[in-house]
Amino acid sequence: MYETDVLVIGGGGAGLRAALEAKAYGKKVLLTAKKGGNSSIQTVGAHCAVMDVPGNSDSLERHFEDTMNSGHWLNSPELVEILVYNAPAAIKELESWGVEFLKDETDNYILMKAGGHSFPRTIRCKEGYHQLYKVLLNKVKQAGIQIFHNFSVIKLLSDQQKVWGAVGVNSLGELIVIKAKSVILATGGLGQIFKNTTNPAGISGDGYVLAHDAGAELIDMEFIQFLPTCMIHPQQFSGMVINDTLRGEGAKLLNAKGERFMEKYSPQKMELATRDVIARAIYQEIKEGNGTLHQGVYIDALELSEEQILNSFPLVKRLHAKGINLTKEYIEVAPFVHFCCGGVKIDSSCFTGIEGLWACGETAGGIHGANRLGGNALSEILVFGKIAGENAARQSSLSTDSIPDFLLKEVKMLKELLDDNPFHEQINEHLSTLKDKIKTIMWDSAGIVRNKKMMGHGFQRLEEISTELSKLQETNALGKFVPLFMTVRNMDLLGKVVLQGAMKRKESIGTHYRDDYKEK
Ligand SMILES: Cc1cc2nc3c(=O)[nH]c(=O)nc-3n(C[C@H](O)[C@H](O)[C@H](O)COP(=O)(O)OP(=O)(O)OC[C@H]3O[C@@H](n4cnc5c(N)ncnc54)[C@H](O)[C@@H]3O)c2cc1C
Repeated sequence: MYETDVLVIGGGGAGLRAALEAKAYGKKVLLTAKKGGNSSIQTVGAHCAVMDVPGNSDSLERHFEDTMNSGHWLNSPELVEILVYNAPAAIKELESWGVEFLKDETDNYILMKAGGHSFPRTIRCKEGYHQLYKVLLNKVKQAGIQIFHNFSVIKLLSDQQKVWGAVGVNSLGELIVIKAKSVILATGGLGQIFKNTTNPAGISGDGYVLAHDAGAELIDMEFIQFLPTCMIHPQQFSGMVINDTLRGEGAKLLNAKGERFMEKYSPQKMELATRDVIARAIYQEIKEGNGTLHQGVYIDALELSEEQILNSFPLVKRLHAKGINLTKEYIEVAPFVHFCCGGVKIDSSCFTGIEGLWACGETAGGIHGANRLGGNALSEILVFGKIAGENAARQSSLSTDSIPDFLLKEVKMLKELLDDNPFHEQINEHLSTLKDKIKTIMWDSAGIVRNKKMMGHGFQRLEEISTELSKLQETNALGKFVPLFMTVRNMDLLGKVVLQGAMKRKESIGTHYRDDYKEK
């Protein structure tokens, strides 16, 4: 058994920032990240943050207002205030650690306008994606924080009121118990419970289920954001995000007939409408038969200069290097699941209400309400990662008691299950099939446009999978597939949570759109 003061579950931006802060308080910190290394971390793919530079009528108050408006005021004003007012300092701190943002000749940030923001206030890392993550990871290594890579946490040690640590499986398939005085959940979002997503493998909502099983509350889980413009062709680039700010620079959206269809859906904001409005418009165009060959629409950036977009958009540069030149050809895009706006309910200290348990980053809920503004997720991981790290560290001084016997017995049973059974390839195949089924069910029933019938049908099918999973568990033959079983079980449970929330919300608001309740 390992022992630590603060256990951070998740090695993305939020987890790294939280670990650094806890360490700064002189605590012993252990960080765990799932199998897949960088390819299981969303922060690696992100590079746009929001930097408010008050002036020219923009202000922190306007950023607050835009964030609340985008969330349809379902977000917590207290959390949004914390986000907005602390983001500039968080970004300055990153710069002092070595992250470079794009600036002009006079050393001012190059600000871009993203959908839903009233002003250009989005800044981008100079080296594109990876840079922010790399700098944070280096800081964590320099601070001497221990990291368990390839380590999947499968259970929190909890009695629904308090958490004593966690149990996980390492790369050798061994069950490891980590006793911790404080635990921080920073496992990212849940994109992988849907068929088409921008989220990397491994981001299938573990943190939400770990928190839920430990007695914490989940909020706003029905609000799933679709990123409207993800590449769908050529296949090798499928899911690649074409950033909102490209539209901010003047790129247009066209249907297969060459019509600039946003005129119909948002005549004033056009391509700078919020992500939900654009995603629905694309959905509608495809449904009406105006979609492209691969069931999407076109992005037209032909009027932008090559220099302008190559310097500003690292992903475009990458495409260019592979022979796709956005200033010479259209590309086909469609909406993919991108972000979970809800999550584990937290207060202003990132506390979940369960003693010893904190949450931050995409795992935490309450900041984005019904919809998230572009760039706010990166500000969020920095601001709330720091807060979670500080409070988890402070609180860890107060906790001393040992893990209760009933939890140790549960761990023993889990260990026997994992160790004592032979390898059954059929179980692997069975679980993989169920996983794919869940992703398709969620895509079909909790997608861009929803209604009672499709959600009810999806829920019913997930219930059937729950029954299948229970039967599989009863065979006691899961063996080394316990972690995969837990993943599939988590996806199934989470799918039902999302659908339950969506069925209960009898209105269309933010990312949640029902064609049987078109108006709010
Ligand atoms: C392609 C892409 C581009 C994006 N671009 C932007 C952008 O430009 N601006 C912006 O604001 N937002 C952007 N976003 C959203 C933003 O990147 C994420 O919301 C944010 O990075 C989430 O950070 P996180 O630390 O909460 O989670 P992540 O970075 O996803 O990290 C989660 C970590 O938890 C680990 N983990 C998960 N489950 C377990 C488990 N059971 N046990 C142990 N570890 C576990 C994972 O391995 C990973 O290390 C983008 C997202 C994607 C996918």
